[in-house]
Amino acid sequence: MTQTVSLEAPPSHPFHRERELVTISRWLITMRWLAGAGVLLATWFARSVLDLDLQFTALFLVGVGIIAYNCALWRWLRSTESMEGDRIRRLHTISHIQVGLDWVAMALLIRFSGGIESPVIFFFIFHILIASLVFERRIAAIYAILALTIVAGISILEKSGLIQHHHVVGFFTGESFDNTAFVIGVIGIYAITSLVTFYLTSSIAERLHQREDQLSTLYLGAQTVSSTLDLQVVLDRLVHATAEALNVSAASIDLIDSTGTRVDIAAAYGFSQEYLNKGPLFLDQSQVLARVLRTGQSLILQGDLDRSLFQYPGELEREGIRSLLYVPLVSKNRSLGMVGVHSRQANRFSQDDAEFLSAIASQGAVAIDNAMSFQALKKLDHDKSQFVRTVTHELRSPVTGAQSLLRNIIKGYAGGLSDRQRDIMGRLDRRLNKLEALINDLLDLAAGRSDMSVEEPEPMSLLRSLDHVISVFQEQAEAKEQTLIFDPPAEDFLVYATEEGIERIFTNLIGNAIKYTPEGGTVTVKVENYDLQVGVVVCDSGIGIPADSLPKLFEEFYRAPNAKAFETGTGLGLVIVKELVESFSGRISVTSKEGKGTTFTVHLPLVTGINQRMDIAENSQEVLS
Ligand code: ATP
Ligand code: MG
Repeated sequence: MTQTVSLEAPPSHPFHRERELVTISRWLITMRWLAGAGVLLATWFARSVLDLDLQFTALFLVGVGIIAYNCALWRWLRSTESMEGDRIRRLHTISHIQVGLDWVAMALLIRFSGGIESPVIFFFIFHILIASLVFERRIAAIYAILALTIVAGISILEKSGLIQHHHVVGFFTGESFDNTAFVIGVIGIYAITSLVTFYLTSSIAERLHQREDQLSTLYLGAQTVSSTLDLQVVLDRLVHATAEALNVSAASIDLIDSTGTRVDIAAAYGFSQEYLNKGPLFLDQSQVLARVLRTGQSLILQGDLDRSLFQYPGELEREGIRSLLYVPLVSKNRSLGMVGVHSRQANRFSQDDAEFLSAIASQGAVAIDNAMSFQALKKLDHDKSQFVRTVTHELRSPVTGAQSLLRNIIKGYAGGLSDRQRDIMGRLDRRLNKLEALINDLLDLAAGRSDMSVEEPEPMSLLRSLDHVISVFQEQAEAKEQTLIFDPPAEDFLVYATEEGIERIFTNLIGNAIKYTPEGGTVTVKVENYDLQVGVVVCDSGIGIPADSLPKLFEEFYRAPNAKAFETGTGLGLVIVKELVESFSGRISVTSKEGKGTTFTVHLPLVTGINQRMDIAENSQEVLS
């Protein structure tokens, strides 16, 4: 059962990242329209209304520049949004260009509105806040330091006289920029404010992103894990989702055995083959296992690992594992085993990780439990069919033996019989025939259910098999003075099936039609082509099926009341038919009117149809991937 998964790690939630980048870019662009207009308005207001002496042209041009580059960014963002494929890179580029241009605009605004004296320098704080939200910490730190360098650089250059100082006359005295204490004080306060802003915002953003990643991993994990009932697939997906969610190098799922004393690795990710071959863990030899399973609590082991806690400490050391986190898998108060994540980093796991892994494990445990129950049910069904097969098989030989002995007696090989004796023997023979039919039906049913039918479906001629069945029934129909019509179409149809299966389906359906049609009636068999499918229609003018019996027709041993009064039977024929039709990817339908007749239609996919459908499925998979 041990298996190492080598799935590629999926990209980390590109969808919400992309959505977030688009939202923030849109929002920045909206804000920038206001900022550009604000610069133009403030410049005009300061000069015309407040009558301040300032660098009107330069500031006005900065305002126009902001609006112009915002216009270009807006168009670029729109074209990116409608672009196909991977947009993340382009959205990142747009974000960097936005921040870069804003930094230049800010530098010019500060430069022309008073340098260190300018109140505009604190507008940089907003920008640092936004950069810390949008970019990862390292990049946001670079932008924050760049902003500080711009402010400090302009002040130092102005103070040293290397560039000219422009100040807003009437707003400041115009001397502070030359005052060393003032310059150092403002730069100091500015540095602290901007760095604290960066630190707090990026810490909060990082934590939020982490939570967001965890939530979507949990959601995606739950979806993939519960979308199948195949136990091994559930385990593989779960172990992979766990490693991915906690961003660790190795993860494993250990399932408890039926004795409850040992666990085996059922799925693993990222371990060496030697580690996987280490053998099972026993409750009385592994304290780690005992603690997790007995307490039902998560367990973090890191730092100096105590070798005595482990059953295989050597293997652990060889793998370089320095931190371990185990969480029990519990479903419906039953312990199924545990899920573990391992890291080569020391002190890698926190209580938060344990809680997160517990959330994954509780979802996973339900999926594992469901898959296990399904597997157990399948096994039970298989065992039941096997049992029926064995019993019926054993019953058949004495019954057929008794039949042949009886026929010898009836034929008089064992001496002459009185009329009364012949009559009794005849009735006995008919009873034995029914018993044989029942045994054969049960055998057919068990064969279908226990996957014992060795013959694999393959492309075969439908008409040839139908012809064969019709010819077998012709005599029986004539004996009942019925008309059995089969008007075969000019072209043959290829279906994926087995000859034996097709013959069994139509032997049952045509047999029923003849059986449940009174003398003188008609049974018609037609073949119709429905594009990718073929339909074989078996229609009779017989006793029909009561409306309330129709839904129960395909249940084992069900027989409609009018049929019971009319003929004997076991009620297994249609069950076998349905299973066979479905095993050939087809379906069966029935319409009937009591007293008028019944029509059964078997739809089977044509071989070309199957191929076409497979092409479509492959193509759509390509599109999806
Ligand atoms: P056997 O297992 O021996 O075939 P059966 O014919 O009774 O017994 P099915 O073939 O499974 O069992 O059919 C189930 C029931 O469906 C029948 O008992 C009958 O009530 C109804 N039925 C099936 N085919 C027809 C038909 N052509 N006309 C009327 N009733 C039908
Ligand atoms: Mg029947």
